[in-house]
Amino acid sequence: MRVELDEPKCVAAGQCVMASPEVFDQREEDGVAILLEERPGDELLDGVREAVAVCPAAALRLVEE
Ligand code: SF4
Repeated sequence: MRVELDEPKCVAAGQCVMASPEVFDQREEDGVAILLEERPGDELLDGVREAVAVCPAAALRLVEE
């Protein structure tokens, strides 16, 4: 599974970091999300799915490969 972040859509709300701090962080200067782990392990997928669900900008996708 691969995580996609559509950076221009991100409104820097930070919900993804709260849901999955192992996979997401935020840039200090403007709060835009940073992808720490493009291919998270299975143990992190529940958190990533939650992040995708709660992102208010629909900027996150989990892609099956
Ligand atoms: S939850 Fe969505 S809008 Fe908020 S920081 Fe993360 S990617 Fe950006």
